[in-house]
Amino acid sequence: MNCPKCNSEMMFGYVQSKHGIIWSAEVHEWFMLPNAKKGDVWVGGKDNCFSVLTEALRCPECKTIVVLPPVEKVE
Ligand SMILES: [Zn+2]
Repeated sequence: MNCPKCNSEMMFGYVQSKHGIIWSAEVHEWFMLPNAKKGDVWVGGKDNCFSVLTEALRCPECKTIVVLPPVEKVE
């Protein structure tokens, strides 16, 4: 995939954290818990604040990172 910002080829990798990461349309000043009513979501697909491991692409030129949706495990 090419970078949506500068069109350079992106590198495959992972976004990782020992704590949860949220995506929100607004800046959270204090509490980093997602507000589902405003569309906030946990990055990585888990509905908790624990570890995150999800695939992502990084542009070596402009440093843009594109986080990919979590892969569903079939058990
Ligand atoms: Zn780029």
